[in-house]
Amino acid sequence: MLIKNGQVALPGLDEPKIIDVKIEGGKIADIGENLSGDSDIIDASGMYVLPGGIDPHTHFDDPGYTQREDFYHGSCAAASGGITTIIDMPCTSIPPVTDIENLRKKLSAVERKSVIDFGFFGGVSALSLQQNFFENFKKLANYVFGIKTYFISGMDTFPRLNHYQFKKVLEAAKILKIPVLLHAEDFDYVSSATQEMMKRGDSPRDYYLSRPEIAEILAVQNAVEIARLVGADLHIVHITTGKAVEIVKSGPATCETAPHYLAFTLDDFEKIGSPLKVTPPVKTADNREKLWKLLAQGKIDFVASDHAPAPEEEKFSGSIWTDYSGIPGTATLLPFLFSEGLFKKRISFKKLVQIVSENAAKRYGFFGRKGSIEIGKDADLTIIDPEAHWTVKGEKLLSKGKITPFEGMTFSGKIVKTIVRGKVVYDSSAGIVADAGYGKFLSPSN
Ligand SMILES: [Zn+2]
Repeated sequence: MLIKNGQVALPGLDEPKIIDVKIEGGKIADIGENLSGDSDIIDASGMYVLPGGIDPHTHFDDPGYTQREDFYHGSCAAASGGITTIIDMPCTSIPPVTDIENLRKKLSAVERKSVIDFGFFGGVSALSLQQNFFENFKKLANYVFGIKTYFISGMDTFPRLNHYQFKKVLEAAKILKIPVLLHAEDFDYVSSATQEMMKRGDSPRDYYLSRPEIAEILAVQNAVEIARLVGADLHIVHITTGKAVEIVKSGPATCETAPHYLAFTLDDFEKIGSPLKVTPPVKTADNREKLWKLLAQGKIDFVASDHAPAPEEEKFSGSIWTDYSGIPGTATLLPFLFSEGLFKKRISFKKLVQIVSENAAKRYGFFGRKGSIEIGKDADLTIIDPEAHWTVKGEKLLSKGKITPFEGMTFSGKIVKTIVRGKVVYDSSAGIVADAGYGKFLSPSN
């Protein structure tokens, strides 16, 4: 395959360069001007050619909760949004990925479903910590990109860690040289605030007040202090406040945010209600503006979707307290950042490429294979028409989840083709053109 005349995002360059990309055997074989010698030509004149998006935070819920999402629908949604690799969380499938047997169960359930490449995170809960956890993790560490933990958890199957337990996990992770990912909201604060706010009312604002800015700041402060003490490798997922980002960057840690924290505020949550219910909740407008600035400055390492859809009956349960927390996001991640970040000049072209692809590949140790357009790497590419516009319609999402807070928003720039290892898997006119199972399992050891 030969991609001609595209505006290609080459590593290290501030702006795209008009150049050809040649693909052979699923890899990038050559990059240069006036390349020829291939009959399969894609004319990318006027189009942007980016390294395929990497979404390192999805909940595809498979096996166990496939009424919400499964690997086929989740991966199709991702492909339609220019994502070529996802890393799935360990906690929202049954059994949770806390040991190698459970990982095998998950892999055998999903490996013939994905249309894009995928990896897993493992996890440690208060339950799995009691069950020969270190030996389990030693075996698991070769197959997962990190260990997910929670300071607060809404899942019975995946209970939270207290600070002491978290320190034990960090110590083990340090020996195994694997990052620890944390959902950072303070348990004590949120538990008491929730009890009080539930008595107060049933509005989005009540829910927000049960988990306000300070709940995240306290948790991040504690986590960073414990990581500093241990000397471990910590990553904070879906960060929502500028202050917490500053704490992360003062310590030995990295962080990600999600598009919904860059798009929406508490005021929006009060208007939109449950379709914007996420955990942690969206915050005030000044935090949203700070997150954009910190992203542009490179203090937020990357943006991930936290894709976690749910069907109508779970999303609209009758109370904000019991409505499912989570939204479909992997299809809108890259389009949102392209339109609202790059087009609105909040982030540079180079930064866009870093936060949707390069930085996650580097952070999780597979930059040698993916995350940039370089000779020898997997030919994972996203072709975007910068002149086209499209409007988000939940019912048209390829995810099982159709309820999105981005409903009705018009984005500049449209994904035209998504290419995984040299094969077009999504085409804007033909839809998904890869078979289920084309996507390969990616791990630190393969
Ligand atoms: Zn998540």
